[in-house]
This record gives sequence, C-alpha cells and structure tokens, in this order.
Amino acid sequence: MPATAAPTVSAVPNALGRFGKFGGRFVPETLMFALDELDREFRTAWADPAFTGEFHRILTEYVGRPSRLYFAERLTKEAGGARIFLKREDLNHTGAHKINNAIGQAMLTRRMGKKRVIAETGAGMHGVATATAAALFGLDCRVYMGVEDIRRQELNVFRMRAMGTEVFPVESGSKTLKDATNEAMREWMSTVEGTHYIIGSVVGPHPFPMMVREFQSVIGIETKQQCLDQIGRLPDAVVACVGGGSNAAGIFYPFVDDSDVSLIGVEAGGHSPAAGQHASTLSFGAPGVLHGSYSYVLQDDDGQTADVHSVSAGLDYPGVGPEHSYWKDAGRVRYTSVSDQEALDAFHLCGRLEGILPALETAHAVVETMREAARRGKDEVVVLCFSGRGDKDCAEVARVTAKK
Ligand SMILES: *Cc1c(COP(=O)(O)O)cnc(C)c1O
Repeated sequence: MPATAAPTVSAVPNALGRFGKFGGRFVPETLMFALDELDREFRTAWADPAFTGEFHRILTEYVGRPSRLYFAERLTKEAGGARIFLKREDLNHTGAHKINNAIGQAMLTRRMGKKRVIAETGAGMHGVATATAAALFGLDCRVYMGVEDIRRQELNVFRMRAMGTEVFPVESGSKTLKDATNEAMREWMSTVEGTHYIIGSVVGPHPFPMMVREFQSVIGIETKQQCLDQIGRLPDAVVACVGGGSNAAGIFYPFVDDSDVSLIGVEAGGHSPAAGQHASTLSFGAPGVLHGSYSYVLQDDDGQTADVHSVSAGLDYPGVGPEHSYWKDAGRVRYTSVSDQEALDAFHLCGRLEGILPALETAHAVVETMREAARRGKDEVVVLCFSGRGDKDCAEVARVTAKK
C-alpha cells in the first residue's frame, strides 16, 4: 500500500533509484541482473492486491498489527510540555519494527522461486526477524553477524539458532554491522541465483531503500489514522531513531508532504563528537558510496569509511539510507544526536515512569522526544516511534552500568 502519491518531496526515487543526487546502484555487474529482477518483482507484487492482501493478513494475524498508539502520561508529565504518544512497534512479534520488512522480503523471495535467504545483523533484531520469516516460509537462512555483536547480543544469537538459522560469525574489521554487511554482500555475489539477500534497513543499492521504506510505511500510515481517530488531527512532531533509517523512514514517509508536521531523526552520539567515537552519519559525515549506494557516510581524512561507536548495536553503522540524505539536504527532516549516557539514562527513565523498557536504539529517540515535548505547549502532540523493546539490551546495560 504505497502512501498517497504526492507532489514534491515524497516523489522519489526515480526509475534509477535516485533520491535527488543520492541512492542509485554502485555494485559489480554480477548483481545488476538480480537487482533488476528484484525491482521488477517488487513493483509488480506491490501493485498486486493478492500480494498486498496477504502481506497485510500476515501483519495482522502473525505480527499483531496494527501496533498501538499509546498516550505516555507519565513521560508527558515529566517533560512538562506537549503530550507524548508512543507508536508501539516493540509490541510486534519478535519485539521490533524489523519484522514488517522481513515478512515482505520473504514473500518476495518465494515469489521469485528462491529457496534461501541471507541477512546481516547488528543488534540481532533484523537477524531474528529474518530467521522468523524464514521459518514461517520454510526458507534456508544464514545470518552474518560481527563477533563483537555476537558477544553483546547473546540472547538474539540463541533465538536465531533456535529457529533453525545459521549464525555466521564475522571476524573482519571492527566486527560489527558494517563488516557483517560487507560479508553478506560478498556472499550474495556468488549465490545470487538461488538466494535472496534480505537487507534490514533502507540502505544498499536500488531497489532496497525504496522497497524497505514501502514495507515499513505501514508504521506511518497507521500512525496517521490513529492520530486522526484518537486526537482528531495530525501530530505536531514525529521523532524516530536513525541507524540505517528504516523505522524512521517508515513513520516519516506518510507525513513527508504534511509540512505542518515536524520530523526529527535521532542518531547515535556515542561517547563524543570526536572521530571514531559516535555514529552520527548525517551530522558529521559527507556524501560517498557505501554498500552499493550514494549517501552520507562517515569517512576519515583519506576517504576511508570511519570507525564508529554506539552503545546500541543497531545504530553502530557508518552509513545511512539515501532518502534520509535527501530529506536532510531538502531541509524536510531535522537530524540530531544523543549520547550513549543520555540513552542509558532514558532506558531507565522510561522503565521507571512507564513500565516499558525501550531498546537502546529507541532510548535515543526517547531523549529527543522529551526535549521536543518540553519545547512545545501542552496542547501539542509529539509521536515517538517506539522501534523496539529492551529485553535484548538488559545484559549489556547491566555490564556498562557496572563499569561506571
Ligand atoms: C535495528 C533497529 C534500529 C535501527 O535500524 P533502523 O533501520 O534505523 O530503524 C532501531 N531500533 C530497533 C529496535 C532496532 O532493532
């Protein structure tokens, strides 16, 4: 269900997968055929009521959609300004928004007659979502994961294996998400004929950024309707965390042409703004090519992809989806960043005040939501895309907190 076709900022990408100057396809010749096939298959499927009907049936019956839009009364009181509503993607089956996209791409895999999927994962949520969809559709599945993330996310590694997925440890580079993505791309070049690569965010070569945005737009489409039903109008601001940018794109996209709605993306500020100490790609990066797409990238002085750091494995990535780069340069979305410590504090605050533990990624957006609400009047409304639950992060939060 594509969002309402609209005149200006939302009318992207073009047929070549360009969002203004961003996006496109920077891949070896061997992948071009598979990407063309995927583009055709996705467009046909997305216009086919049988496909979209089944997609929405699975999202309803299996994932548990629509997710609630919940009035967070105690966070609202604490911030002392606008009313705060949480779009509860944490209540989806598997605990985050990633499942929306994994289901969509698994359905496409079956439609293309492929029997095997691979994926990359950071925090393990996309790995778990892919393992889940693979089990549901009877597909073989291998997930690439950096050994540093395997250490931080033991619970998710167990979950994937328990569902019959092979978790492939990646030892190269910083042993995190970027390296896992490199390995998955490398494998795909040799297995592309029978294997589909389920990319977990709005990144990678065309058509992935467009396709993942469309699968995740269910978040924003629901939010819009729920706002109309529950408060009788659109919200004043929508806040989401940005790793690759899929939960943000999913909730932002249906609002892009509603110019009265402020859109705010929150990146990982890590320890500090010093090089290598954060993952704030849009705040400190420059345009370049990473993982098959032209977008903002964190680079060192020699143009090499920089090291990144975030307490949250799902935001620990030096790139960002090309549509976010486009929205940034167009001035449609404001991007900011939040530090590790601020996110850890918000993890506890949200738990204490609402009885809801956010994923560490989500906790970054909680911080900026509190600030944004405080800046606004009591008659205004801020919606926070509550991208995932915190269970996976409890061990890591305990470890980091004990070190202090
Ligand atoms: C993976 C993940 C993110 C970051 O990915 P995006 O593509 O930027 O959405 C954010 N929150 C949660 C809970 C995640 O699992």
